[in-house]
Amino acid sequence: MITVIDRVAVSTVDAAGTEHLHGHVVVDGDTIVSVGSGPAPARTGPHTYVDGSGCLVTPGLVNTHHHLYQWATRGFAQDATLFEWLTELYPVWRGLDAGVTHAAASAGLARLAVTGCTTAADHHYVFPREGGDQFEALVSAGRRIGIRLHAVRGSMDRGRSHGGLPPDNLVEETEAALTATEKAIDEHHDPARDALVRVAVGPCSPFSVSPELMTGAAELARRKGVRLHTHLAETVDEEEQCLAENGCTPTEYAERLGWLGDDVWLAHTVHLSGDAVRRLGATSTGSAHCPTSNGRLGTGIAPVRDLLDAGAPVGLGVDGAASNEDGGLVAELRQSVMQARQRGGPKAMTFRQALWLGTMGGARCLGRQDEIGSIEPGKLADLALWRLDGVDHAGMADPVAALVFGPQPPLKLLLVGGRTVVSDNELRTAPADDLARELRTASAKLMTEDPLAGSSIPGGSR
Ligand SMILES: [Zn+2]
Repeated sequence: MITVIDRVAVSTVDAAGTEHLHGHVVVDGDTIVSVGSGPAPARTGPHTYVDGSGCLVTPGLVNTHHHLYQWATRGFAQDATLFEWLTELYPVWRGLDAGVTHAAASAGLARLAVTGCTTAADHHYVFPREGGDQFEALVSAGRRIGIRLHAVRGSMDRGRSHGGLPPDNLVEETEAALTATEKAIDEHHDPARDALVRVAVGPCSPFSVSPELMTGAAELARRKGVRLHTHLAETVDEEEQCLAENGCTPTEYAERLGWLGDDVWLAHTVHLSGDAVRRLGATSTGSAHCPTSNGRLGTGIAPVRDLLDAGAPVGLGVDGAASNEDGGLVAELRQSVMQARQRGGPKAMTFRQALWLGTMGGARCLGRQDEIGSIEPGKLADLALWRLDGVDHAGMADPVAALVFGPQPPLKLLLVGGRTVVSDNELRTAPADDLARELRTASAKLMTEDPLAGSSIPGGSR
C-alpha cells in the first residue's frame, strides 16, 4: 500500500539536516521510498493521498527511558528528593501485578503516541513475587497500542538488609532475576529490522543492585546479543554512596563492571566529571537525557552539550510517570533546550539539535540508527505529521521552532511502519475510554493495597 504525504514541510533529520519547506514523503508498505522538495510525483496506481498543507512531518519521536507501570502511581511525593521519592513509592509498587502493569503501560504508551512517539524504551524493574507475568503484560500493551517497544527487563537484588534502598520484600534473588531476564529475551526479543518488540537487560541502579547482578547481566546481554540499560549518576546522593562503598564514582564503577560500551545506554548521567564524559564518548556509551524528571526531582542538569561534543549518543526520555506526570515527548524537546542553555548559555544547544536528540539521538541509543530516527528512503515509515495551521501556530516563522518552542501541536497523523496509530489527534488502535477505565481501576487497586504496610494516599497526612 502506497501513502503519499504531499504539500508538507519536511524535517528529515538526516546527517545533512535536510529540510524542505514545501515537500513530500512517499511510503510503500512499512518503508519510506522517497522524500524531496516540491510536490510528489504524479501517481496513477492505488494509493492513499494525505494533503499535508499547513503541516510539518518529522521522524517519529523516540523515547529512551520510561517506567510505564508508574502511570498508575502518579502524584506521589511531589516535593521529594529521589531517595525520599523512592522510599515513599516502593510500598505502593508492592501491589504491582500483570493487570496493573498492562493498564498502566497501555495508558502511558497511548500518551506517548499522541505526543508523536513511535518508539519507546520501558525499564520495568519491580517484580513482586505474586505479580504474575508482568513482562508479558508490558509487551502485550506495546502490541495493543502499536508503537515500537524496547522492553527492558529490569531487576533489583539489593534490599535494605544488604545496604540497598528498596525493602527486602521487593527485590529478587540474583540468580532468579538473571533467569527471568533470559526467559524474557527468549520469549519476546525480535532482532528483525522491523521489530515491534525488542528486549534489553536492565538492573535498576547501583543502590538497588549487587555488583554480581550487574556483571551477570552484562554477560547475559552480550551472550544473547541484546542491549544493556541502567540508571547512572542521577543524584549527588548516589555519587556519595558509590564513593563511600566502592571508592570510585558511578561512572568508574560502571566501567569496572563492564558497563560502558556501544551496546549500553544509561539513564540520566547528570553528575559526570570531565573524565567521565570523555569515557562515555570514547566508548560510545549512550545517555537517556530526562530533563523534566531531573527538574521534578531537582537532581541537576545533565552535561548534554559536553556529551555530544565527546561523541556520545544522547537521546531523550520522559522517565517514569511518577516523576514526570506529563509523560509526553514534545515537552522534553523544549525542556532539553531550556536546560542546556541554563547550564551552558544561549549557544549551548540549538532547537534543531533538540529534534535530533528526540529522533536520531534516541535511535542511536537503542541501536536502531539504520532503521528509524530520520526520514530517508529505505528507513521504516515511522512518521509524525504535526498540524501547524491552527490558532496556536499559524504564521510562526519556522515550523521546527513551532514544534520545539510552541504549544504542542495536534497530530494529523502518526505512522508506525506505515500503519496509522494516531489520526486527527486521536489514538486509533485502542478506545481511549477503555484505557482510562482500566487505569482508574489499576490506580485504585494500588492505592488501597496493603494500607497498613506504609502506602500513602497523595495529599493525605503522613
Ligand atoms: Zn528512571
